[in-house]
Amino acid sequence: MIVNGSIRAMSLKPVSATPPSETPPILRAAGPVKAPRAQTASATPTFPFSAIVGQDEMRRALLIAAVDPSVGGVLVFGDRGTGKSTAIRGLAALLPPMAAVVGCPYACDPGRPAEHCHRCREQAVLRAESVPVPVVDLPLGATEDRVVGALDLERALTRGEKAFEPGLLARANRGFLYIDEVNLLEDHLVDLLLDVAASGVNTVEREGLSIRHPARFVLVGSGNPEEGELRPQLLDRFGLAVEVSTPTDLPTRIDVVRRRDAYERDPAAFCAGYAKADRAIRKALTAARARLPALAVPDATLEAAARLCLALGTDGLRGELTLMRTARALAAFEGAETVGLDHLARIAPSALRHRLRRNPLDESGSTARVARAVEDILGQ
Ligand SMILES: [Zn+2]
Repeated sequence: MIVNGSIRAMSLKPVSATPPSETPPILRAAGPVKAPRAQTASATPTFPFSAIVGQDEMRRALLIAAVDPSVGGVLVFGDRGTGKSTAIRGLAALLPPMAAVVGCPYACDPGRPAEHCHRCREQAVLRAESVPVPVVDLPLGATEDRVVGALDLERALTRGEKAFEPGLLARANRGFLYIDEVNLLEDHLVDLLLDVAASGVNTVEREGLSIRHPARFVLVGSGNPEEGELRPQLLDRFGLAVEVSTPTDLPTRIDVVRRRDAYERDPAAFCAGYAKADRAIRKALTAARARLPALAVPDATLEAAARLCLALGTDGLRGELTLMRTARALAAFEGAETVGLDHLARIAPSALRHRLRRNPLDESGSTARVARAVEDILGQ
């Protein structure tokens, strides 16, 4: 009664949106639904974000994305073993826990009914619980069904109901989605992920049925440009692109090894030593999020951003938009009264290096070009 032509092209919206002549399909999550798994459930506490040595550009980009997820994803280029995954986990662990609807596979925010999934909308009473900000790893071999979720068609046929099994995008809602070696992922999956990250909605279409659910997350992809290139069209859809490298100076290397060793020998004691520094970052992040909506970008800053993008020949207006948003998020994080040229200058390499027309993957070249333009135009 459900899998036939009569409901083709009908999207699964709240029941009230369904014409009365049609039987609304029943949409349920397949099997018991779980809230995002607690990151802190394991015995070992997460390596503290504030204990990461160096990698300033990456840490700043992640903080900016945490202040304003609308800046788009973060692409991290560079060597293996430079703490990319550690940084994301550390950042998520220090974020304030989120209020989430109990049992909702998307961890809907009880305080934002406009963003609720179909399940939460249909429930009269919602119970809330506090859960950690999710970090979801997207493995390279993941099928599209596993990523976006799958319809259990057998259930639909035998029991006359539509069953949707949420995928990784559901679990990542309101958190981080991390893809190691994103440049080795199939282009169509990267495309899809960028679409979902930009819209905040995951739409699954199978057998003429369309299911939508909230999927707002910060996309973080890492990659080594020597092992595979991302198409320029995909590159420039990431908000920020940062470089990480293995530290080459002796004191930094010693510091990295010493901290890692101390953490592995006694994680609890090590983390206790950084609890205060992590708390300070959490406080700054929370304050920045609250300050962001009221923080205006002065005309002079906008003009400078536009001149910078013109000089560098970045395609379209995405460069300026990202530059403005990231500079604003940085200013908010630092508690600044206004968004100034120094904010632009500091964020310009991360916001623009992957948008230059020629040799977008020639990182050293792009970075040097952005630095020159910043010096010429912003005088910084
Ligand atoms: Zn929900």
